[in-house]
Amino acid sequence: MSTVRLLLSCLLLKEVVALSGNFWHITDLHWDETYNLTDNPQLVCASSGQRPAANAGKYGDYACDSPWLLINSSVYAMKDILPDPDFIVWTGDGTPHVPNEDLGEEAVLNIMRKLTHIINQVFPNTKVYPALGNHDYHPKHQLPAGPNKIYKQTAEMWQKWLDPESRGTFNKGGYYTEKLLNRTGFRMLVLNTNLYYNQNKLTKGIDDPAGQFSWANQVLTEAAINKEKVYIIGHVPPGFFEKKRSTKWFMPKFNELYLDLIQKHHSVILGQFFGHHHTDSFRMFYNSKGSPISAMFLSPGVTPWKTTLPGVVDGANNPGIRVFEYDTQTLLVKDVVTHYLNLTHANAAHGRWEKEYRLTESFRVPDASPASMHQALERIANHHCYLQKYYEFNSVNYDLTECDSDCRIDHVCATREVDFTKYEGCLLKEGAVAISSGLLPVLSVAVSLVLANR
Ligand SMILES: [Zn+2]
Ligand SMILES: [Zn+2]
Repeated sequence: MSTVRLLLSCLLLKEVVALSGNFWHITDLHWDETYNLTDNPQLVCASSGQRPAANAGKYGDYACDSPWLLINSSVYAMKDILPDPDFIVWTGDGTPHVPNEDLGEEAVLNIMRKLTHIINQVFPNTKVYPALGNHDYHPKHQLPAGPNKIYKQTAEMWQKWLDPESRGTFNKGGYYTEKLLNRTGFRMLVLNTNLYYNQNKLTKGIDDPAGQFSWANQVLTEAAINKEKVYIIGHVPPGFFEKKRSTKWFMPKFNELYLDLIQKHHSVILGQFFGHHHTDSFRMFYNSKGSPISAMFLSPGVTPWKTTLPGVVDGANNPGIRVFEYDTQTLLVKDVVTHYLNLTHANAAHGRWEKEYRLTESFRVPDASPASMHQALERIANHHCYLQKYYEFNSVNYDLTECDSDCRIDHVCATREVDFTKYEGCLLKEGAVAISSGLLPVLSVAVSLVLANR
């Protein structure tokens, strides 16, 4: 190759590389300081709540929240796999699933400090966008719609990551917005959706807690005027939990307001990144004509903790962390690569983080745009092999059982419909499809009939 041609191809390569960026998303670290290897399986960790931690090893147990070694291992795995991301998104839930009496304001803040410290230590030169989770407050879930000690202390703890203006709004309501990486035309919007969580007693009677909706509406309106592209991050997502039928997190009026916000401003929103489920899933947003307008990515948690939510059978997961690849000019999400630690293998041999899957390869889509995610959802809904693949990814390769027709309905409807009423309609429609195609066991027919009578 001539020198000129070589130079030219190098320049072209540089341009292609420059258009592509990547960032980490980590969520739900849930550090349990009490984790210790002892002969009595009920006493391994406080977060198991007396459930036996039958396979406890140094990296953790599926009945427990994360021991420090797992937290440490996940942050260093990030450094090994992608040492120089453009930025890191951290969507909250740092403390363990234990009764309020076992923690306290100082305990919560100390856990958050230790987690902040390790991320900062391993990625000293990387911008981090943190969001609060429902466990990052004492008492848990009760995040106030106004200034308080924890918002103030957390803003101080994160002062290296937050602009002075961000610290101002964070003090008031736990939310903030900044130019993404200080670049004109790009914006990060960080929401405190814990204010909309139905377990939060402090915000029940309020129309717009901490004025967050009107503030977000204003930010997104100005973003459109300034021709900005926006990413939204938060912890508790709207819509439904895919592992248990009809389980939702938002209060109904807030779910509607969130949907209105996305529908109104979807043209500037290029991605939504949330946690809280500990599972790997996504949510679709459609316009009134049924066209896909936005996708929300729900990233798996670091904690393997088996949920105690009644009705969920064996709801644990392997620890997961995730890289998003995006177009730095348009903020289009191009791909999603999930890495994980097989906890059983890690405890038996050594803790080796592996690539789990690449979205575009596994679901044969060109990118992770709303249209592509819609296409992926249709594949999952209509082809069992894609449903099964999605289902195994959902628990990060923990639950490898068959996703039956009931399971299919739960996952497809949660992914397709964030709106509470439309979700119920989806259950009926998909139930009817399963009945007519003879896929449904007798029990499910009975459930569908009960739903139809509501
Ligand atoms: Zn969590
Ligand atoms: Zn949570």
